[in-house]
Amino acid sequence: MKVRVLEEECISCGLCIDTCPEVFEWDDDEDKARPIQEEVPEGQEDCAREAIDLCPTEAIEEIV
Ligand code: SF4
Repeated sequence: MKVRVLEEECISCGLCIDTCPEVFEWDDDEDKARPIQEEVPEGQEDCAREAIDLCPTEAIEEIV
């Protein structure tokens, strides 16, 4: 599973980072969330999907 954050959609609410800190982090330069790495680590898929569902602006996409 791979994910990306659409920077222009992210409103920096922090929900994805609170929900799934093994997968998402702050991009301090842009003040937006970003995946720590494109490939979601093993065992983190469920929380990554939860973050996708919770994101208020649908800024997180699963790359297929
Ligand atoms: S949940 Fe969505 S809007 Fe909030 S910080 Fe994460 S990507 Fe940005």
